Amino acid sequence: MARFSSIVSLLLLWAFDTFGQLAGYRVWFGVTTRKPQQVVLRQWHQNTQTRYLVLNPQTLETSVVALLPDAVQELPWKDVWQRISQTSYGRALHSEQQRDTNLQDAGIERTDTTERGFSLTMDLCPSTKPLTRSVFEQLIRAFEPAEKPIPVTITITGLWMEKHLQDLDYLKNLVSRGELAITWVNHSYHHRYSPRLPLPVNFLLEANTNLNDEVLLNEQAMLLHGLTPSIFFRFPGLVSDKAVFDRILAFGLLPIGSDAWLAKNQLPKQGSLVLIHANGNEPTGITDFINLIRMKSASIENKTWLLYDLPTSVAKEGR
Ligand SMILES: [Zn+2]
Repeated sequence: MARFSSIVSLLLLWAFDTFGQLAGYRVWFGVTTRKPQQVVLRQWHQNTQTRYLVLNPQTLETSVVALLPDAVQELPWKDVWQRISQTSYGRALHSEQQRDTNLQDAGIERTDTTERGFSLTMDLCPSTKPLTRSVFEQLIRAFEPAEKPIPVTITITGLWMEKHLQDLDYLKNLVSRGELAITWVNHSYHHRYSPRLPLPVNFLLEANTNLNDEVLLNEQAMLLHGLTPSIFFRFPGLVSDKAVFDRILAFGLLPIGSDAWLAKNQLPKQGSLVLIHANGNEPTGITDFINLIRMKSASIENKTWLLYDLPTSVAKEGR
């Protein structure tokens, strides 16, 4: 696997070099010097500019910006953490530290319990099957009279992006047409998984996993495909231990779990993070979801049952 991953790195380097798109991608912590102050998470070079992935610590929205050297101040992570301790981001990081020990489903799994609805998250784990486009069509049909664009969270892997360029274009097109507002979440590059291994040594806990590659190669692949990585991370299989969880926090990221994995018969509650797989590998979850929106159609119509934007919900919960 290590060899495979270095081949992927080489291919990505080749792609970035050939298209002159990304170089020197790295974790780079600091703050912007102008107001409103943003947290700086990554730095790279692209089209003769120095670019940064920055986070608004109050709204938890990320963006990509080109900045001159005097517009940023590099700081050790602990200093950044100190400065943002009173923001939504600081509070979310703090509460993540209390949820880091579960083998399954560690991280944020539910947000604001006063919400009249939930946040929908869909995982695009590696798959040879096409994207389940019907779920997006049904979603738009059901929610669009009440909500437009519809907020959804999609967690994505590098291997899925490699194999599904047209499906990715389909999703980006739904965004540019104003139908969906997608929060893109890193779900690791390779999404390692071995059907024979027990969970404590499976997924990202498998021996010889290069966590740096899993996080940073996937962020680069997302940027290369025009997706802005959000502040969230979802563990493959929702499996982590304290060590790997804390390393994800050290990238500045907020792990998300789920308290309502529909295919496992977990029913959504107010403020749930609902999980379905739109990668063709979990038809039961998709059927459950479609039945759910049919059942709730009257409440959707009169806006008493809605989908919520994940960054906004997490930001609100930390206030
Ligand atoms: Zn997955």
